[in-house]
Amino acid sequence: MTLLPVLIELQATHDYLKVIERDLTSLPPDLAALDTQLRAHDKRLAELDRGVVDGKAQVEKLTKELELAKRLEEHARKHLKTVDQKVKYAAAIREVDERERQRHGLERPLKELAVRLEAAAKEATEIQTKRTVAQAQFDELHQIFLAEHENQVASRAELQAKRKTLEDQMTLAEVTRFGRLLSQRMGKAVVKVESGICTGCRVKIRSPFLMQLRDAKAPMGCESCQRIVYLA
Ligand SMILES: [Zn+2]
Repeated sequence: MTLLPVLIELQATHDYLKVIERDLTSLPPDLAALDTQLRAHDKRLAELDRGVVDGKAQVEKLTKELELAKRLEEHARKHLKTVDQKVKYAAAIREVDERERQRHGLERPLKELAVRLEAAAKEATEIQTKRTVAQAQFDELHQIFLAEHENQVASRAELQAKRKTLEDQMTLAEVTRFGRLLSQRMGKAVVKVESGICTGCRVKIRSPFLMQLRDAKAPMGCESCQRIVYLA
């Protein structure tokens, strides 16, 4: 089998699959609502997760700074004990006060961070619980939905198997090229040329190209949209 018929069939298989996927993903209202809920939970969990990572990094940074501040304060206090001159004593007292202020300045945000992290962990647990319930409800209703769409589910499996069979007749580069076109060209990688016009991009094909296309041994891409073109 030459490549072009395989490509044409693969395109048709993708077209059918797309229709079936659309049926199978247009969920009834109750399922759609649960799906929205699940997505919202996931979004919030991701947000909380990011917040926790940031918070922990801040805790680590502030903890290091606090350790240093404590050492400096301790040093200032030791120094205070050794001072006997009145003038130097006042300066040493000021130094101790200053170090103490710095320590407090770090301890406060650390406490706040701990509270925030705890709240985030609590919220995450609550959401996780709600999510589990919603997922179970979704799965149950989805099973019913799929049972009601038994035919489409069976066709999807058949088409997926067919796609695999067709792709197995192509090289990896050919499969990759097809897939790239499919995603970049709105699901149409292979299109007909009708009355000298590419039906993918509606651009008129130049006559020399048309002639080449007529005798082509290998599939050719439209000069305008790069889709694989064939003569109807
Ligand atoms: Zn084109």
